[in-house]
Amino acid sequence: MAEHEHEHVRVAVIGSGFGGLGAAVRLRREGVTDFVVLERAGSVGGTWRDNTYPGCACDVPSHLYSFSFAPNPDWPRTFSGQGHIRAYLEHVADVFRLRPHIRFDSEVKTMTWNADRLCWDIETAGGPLSADFVVSATGPLSDPRIPDIPGLDTFPGKVFHSARWDHDYDLRGKRVAMVGTGASAIQIVPAVQPLAAKLTLFQRTPPWVLPRVDRAITGAERRLHRRLPVTTRLRRGLLWGIRELQVQLFTKRPDELGLVESVAKRNMARSIKDPALRAKLTPGYRIGCKRILLSSEYYPALAKPNVDVVASGLSEVRGRTVVAGDGTEAEVDAIVFGTGFHVTDMPIADRVVGADGRTLAEAWAAGGMEALRGASVPGFPNWMTVIGPNTGLGNSSMILMIESQLNYMADHLRQLDVLGGRVVLDARPSALHAWNRRVQERMKRTVWNTGCESWYLDANGRNTTLWPGTTTEFRRVTRRVDLSEYEVLRTAAVKKAEVSA
Ligand SMILES: Cc1cc2nc3c(=O)[nH]c(=O)nc-3n(C[C@H](O)[C@H](O)[C@H](O)COP(=O)(O)OP(=O)(O)OC[C@H]3O[C@@H](n4cnc5c(N)ncnc54)[C@H](O)[C@@H]3O)c2cc1C
Repeated sequence: MAEHEHEHVRVAVIGSGFGGLGAAVRLRREGVTDFVVLERAGSVGGTWRDNTYPGCACDVPSHLYSFSFAPNPDWPRTFSGQGHIRAYLEHVADVFRLRPHIRFDSEVKTMTWNADRLCWDIETAGGPLSADFVVSATGPLSDPRIPDIPGLDTFPGKVFHSARWDHDYDLRGKRVAMVGTGASAIQIVPAVQPLAAKLTLFQRTPPWVLPRVDRAITGAERRLHRRLPVTTRLRRGLLWGIRELQVQLFTKRPDELGLVESVAKRNMARSIKDPALRAKLTPGYRIGCKRILLSSEYYPALAKPNVDVVASGLSEVRGRTVVAGDGTEAEVDAIVFGTGFHVTDMPIADRVVGADGRTLAEAWAAGGMEALRGASVPGFPNWMTVIGPNTGLGNSSMILMIESQLNYMADHLRQLDVLGGRVVLDARPSALHAWNRRVQERMKRTVWNTGCESWYLDANGRNTTLWPGTTTEFRRVTRRVDLSEYEVLRTAAVKKAEVSA
């Protein structure tokens, strides 16, 4: 077979989580049917397929954490669990007839810009293909991060990450070390504490935890939502509006978050009576600087006699003994890492090779992750990322941001149609710098820059993950592609034809 006799599609979408499935629906709505969704796993769902740990649930109410174009009147709880969200995404794949486009077990190994053909050559586990346009929706929280702990490889017990839960391993009666106190860990602790003989929690930094007001959605509410779909939209609108108002506090007036801190302190005081434990669990930074967590079960679980909180990170493993940075030791049967993901060093960046032969990771090596309007990177023409740099949220639903980015994708494709023929768009470095300057300038006033260590910050301490504004603003700035921010590239053949015309 000649070199480029493999399959060619107009659009290749990578990933089948909310981002990839949303892109697929949007492409069909735009009349684009020549596309594939490349997924490394064997089913859709992304985050909600991979995170099956006990207690896994969403921190944003279900009616907001769902696609605007696929409302679900039947959400069973105000905050849905992983199983229901996964089922919702399977349902979306069916209802919008996306399955014929999805290629499972097709991990993308490399995507290389082909300057002669103005397309992306893609190597996947299922074989090669090429595409005019790539939508990279591989997720910011999809590759688990386990810290490099000396001695871990010789630990004789069980080790796993929260996002790769080993359901064959029975934690009942075991001595368990839980490493980390982030969003996953605080859901795992209350689920594991009643089973484990002993639970030792390694806490580098305590989180701020607000009560979680979760309840079953009644049959009457669901019937109402089914009969009067406008009520689902109203409910969503209310949930969204409250969060839009909160954003101002995070991005402009962090000093006024003190009141929220007192609610969190009361949440702790209700369950933690021991002053020494309370001191360990009280954060020393402004609420919101790290992600605010929601749980009404975390502190009650920590107060139980079979739980020890070690106010220090795990630093070494010696046989069955886990050793904290402060020297505390515990003998354990299993170590569960709730240590997050490769966020600011996402592995897909090593697999994308742009126009000048550099990988995306190399392009980002000096200044950290950056993308024009969270999507486009100079030197990576006709390529965009969903939930790219500075598109994350501290307090609302990522689905809102994904849908905004899909508006941008749709307009990108429309602009290419208008320009016609073998034409591609490459973000101008000057446009990216101007965008990033504005984003980083605004970042200075936010609560996330008030001096705490968090996964929002990269190795240089720069916040390359969050959006320092409202979701409304983001929707506005991603509505249209501004062609002055892009260079229009044409194939040599097209250029020649233009000259002779
Ligand atoms: C435990 C947990 C709880 C969360 N809770 C919330 C919440 O309450 N509210 C909120 O807004 N957000 C939450 N998030 C963030 C969540 O990740 C996003 O809301 C959203 O699900 C991201 O969707 P995505 O499609 O961009 O990424 P993902 O859902 O991560 O999907 C990415 C997909 O890409 C695939 N993939 C990756 N690399 C490749 C490759 N090389 N080739 C082929 N396929 C590949 C993966 O297998 C995966 O299916 C949570 C995340 C986690 C982990």
